[in-house]
This record gives sequence, C-alpha cells and structure tokens, in this order.
Amino acid sequence: MTVVDRDTDDAASWGNAGYLTPGFAVPLPEPAALRAGLKVLSPASPVQVSGIPDTNLLRFATRFLPRCSHRRWDHALRAISPINRIALQAHEELDATGTAAAVVHRDPILVGFRDSADLKAKLTELRHVVASGMPVRSDVLTASETRSLEPTLSAEVSCGMLLHDQRSIDPPMFLRLLRKTVLDEGGRILAGQDVVALNVSGRGVAARSADGAVTQADIAVLACGAWLSPLARQFGVRQPVQAGRGYSFRMPPEANMPTRPTYLPTQRVVCTPLADGATRVSGIMEFARPNHPQNPDRFTTIAAAADPMLSTVDWTLRTEEWCGSRPCTADGLPLVGASHSERVFVHGGHGMWGMTQGPATAKLLARQIATGNPPSELAALNPLR
Ligand SMILES: Cc1cc2nc3c(=O)[nH]c(=O)nc-3n(C[C@H](O)[C@H](O)[C@H](O)COP(=O)(O)OP(=O)(O)OC[C@H]3O[C@@H](n4cnc5c(N)ncnc54)[C@H](O)[C@@H]3O)c2cc1C
Repeated sequence: MTVVDRDTDDAASWGNAGYLTPGFAVPLPEPAALRAGLKVLSPASPVQVSGIPDTNLLRFATRFLPRCSHRRWDHALRAISPINRIALQAHEELDATGTAAAVVHRDPILVGFRDSADLKAKLTELRHVVASGMPVRSDVLTASETRSLEPTLSAEVSCGMLLHDQRSIDPPMFLRLLRKTVLDEGGRILAGQDVVALNVSGRGVAARSADGAVTQADIAVLACGAWLSPLARQFGVRQPVQAGRGYSFRMPPEANMPTRPTYLPTQRVVCTPLADGATRVSGIMEFARPNHPQNPDRFTTIAAAADPMLSTVDWTLRTEEWCGSRPCTADGLPLVGASHSERVFVHGGHGMWGMTQGPATAKLLARQIATGNPPSELAALNPLR
C-alpha cells in the first residue's frame, strides 16, 4: 500500500476534537443547523460563511437546505446507524495494531448546559439515535453533580449529562501512531505529493503529482478530505464535498481547563484533554473554500462562547491556533464505495464525524475491494448516489 499525501498539517484528522462518540454522530443537515445558519451574519454565530461563495458552495447549499427537516434527518440517521454501531469496535481493532496510546479517555463524555431546554433537546436527539438502532447510555445530572465531576465549570451550568461508552483521543498522536503502523506493516507514505490527475488504463491507475512524479497502483482510493470533489468528479461522483471549516487551539495544563472530555453543545465548543495534560478547544462551522485564509477572530469567538461556562480561564495562554476543513456532504452521509471506474474507489465526506466513523467505513471498503461485494452497511453511502 502507498499513501500519497500533500500535507497532513492542514488535514482535519490532525486538528479535530478527537471525540470518538457514535452516540453523538448524527447527520449535519437538521433544523437546528438551519436555525444556526440563519445567524451567519452575526460574528458571534458558530456557523459562518467566508469569502465569495463559489459554485461548489452554491451546489452544496441548494442540496443541503431542503434536507434540514426532521423527517430527512431521521432518514439519514437510520442510514448511518449501522456504521455508528461498529465504529468503536473498528477503533479497538486499530488499537491492537498500535494506536491504543492515543486514547486519552474512556470515561463518559460530560455535557454541560446553561439551559434545561437545551438538555431536553439533546435528550430528544438521543432518543432518535436509540430508535435508529444505536444503543446509547446516558445520565442526566443536576448542576452540582455536573460541577462536582468537573469543578472547572462555572455556576452558569444549570444541568448536565454523561454519555457513556464513548472515548476521546489525542488526534496528532493518533496520526503519528497510524503512520507508524502503516510503515511497520510494509506500506509506503509519499509525503509532499500534490496529486493533480489520475489516469486509469488497463495496467492500473497512475497518480500524477504537481511536481511531475507519477505513482502507479492497481487501484486507487480517493481519500482527500475537503479536496475530494475535483479529483472524484471525473469518476462520476456528483455529490459536492464542501469544506466546513473548524478552528481549534491548545490551552496549557495551568489554564484551569476541564480535565475530562467536556462538550458545551449550545455554545458549540468542545474541550478535549490531550495526552500531555493540555486541552484542545475547538468549534465553529465556517463554509468557505478549504484554502481560504483563516480568520483570527474565530478563535476569540470560541473563547467568548465558552468563557461564561468555565470558572476562570486566561484565554491569552492559547497556542497552536489551527483551522481545517471538515469534508461535508449535503445529505450528511459519507461517500464510500466504488466509482464509475473499477480501479478507483472513494472514501470521504464524513463531515463532523470522520474520526469516529472512518476506521469502520475504511474496513468495510477494504472488504468491498477485496471481495468485489459491497457490504450492506455501505449501501446508503454509495458515492454515485
Ligand atoms: C475542528 C474540528 C473538530 C472535529 N472534531 C471531530 C470529533 O471530535 N470527532 C470526529 O469523529 N470527527 C471530528 N471532526 C471531523 C474529522 O476531523 C474529519 O471528518 C476527518 O478528519 C476527515 O478525514 P479525511 O481523511 O477525510 O480528511 P483529512 O483529514 O482532511 O485528510 C485529507 C488529506 O488528503 C490530502 N489531500 C487532499 N487533496 C490532495 C491531493 N490532491 N493530493 C495529495 N493529498 C491530498 C490532504 O493534504 C490531507 O492530508 C472534526 C473536524 C474539525 C475541523
């Protein structure tokens, strides 16, 4: 196996929040996303549009908006449920190959709410998740129970929830270990290669990079995140993949941040303890071109949203400010399976949940490639839909 990769620093898999939470892994198009989207003109909104909308964003928006209904969201949830059910099992298999050290927490995820109505909405969502066939265990907490579990939360937190049987990882460490596993298993990683064209012939697939290098293979799997559409389109993939950019930064151990994975859904802020005792803080959904310059104000927006929910935080301590692109599809489902060419397969479009679902969908795709039979779990994820 040869991995051809341009640069991992801008990969979503590096800068994400590291929650492996199938209980939360619901499709993006839903009425709440639409309501948040209507506030894009406010700089404090967690949903933003940056730059001049291009044709990809317009194609995405015209498909995404009609899907933001309860009925269509529930339909998509049922389609992704078979993947969510096996997501953590696939991670356990990866652990056994060498990524286990990147798992920082197997404790329940703590969710903090300022308003009991938001807790109620989350519980309703969880009931739909359970009805879709994904078992989830959760406990509702009072304000004092929430704060006794996580004393860094402020008096603004009026109630909470524990979501059991999930986990969180240190994403950069996970990538390092995964890379080592690939090399240990005899794979090659060709870094710094920007693939600009794929040519299929009777002999195989040739990936040509911008510097003229050509990598030859029997088959190719296109797994290029938010940059999927330009390469995949020629192989029949019509669904646009849109960059939903997220922002994250690092707070040092002395910053008095939560020591367990803590999610503030109303503020759309995620706090993730890293392996070295620091905390990664992430948020924002900004629709833009993947290479659009990052907006430094977004880091302040995240900090300002989280601040009232935390006791005392010196936000000036933040470092490692990062921005990267979630590969979002308009129907909220990944694109995994065969393309028009029998030599080219697709693995992408996991949106907000690629860390959680990626190993499961990759394993199913590997089985499809090896046997020629598409597994039933991938039926709804057909990239040619
Ligand atoms: C702020 C944030 C928080 C998130 N939190 C979570 C979370 O808690 N849990 C979760 O499950 N998911 C989370 N996600 C989503 C998750 O990170 C993504 O779904 C996942 O990482 C996508 O993986 P990918 O491999 O498809 O894309 P990427 O990780 O972006 O990788 C794509 C790779 O392809 C390379 N590439 C692209 N085009 C080319 C080309 N032409 N030639 C060569 N190389 C190319 C890129 O350089 C990159 O290395 C989050 C995302 C963000 C941004």
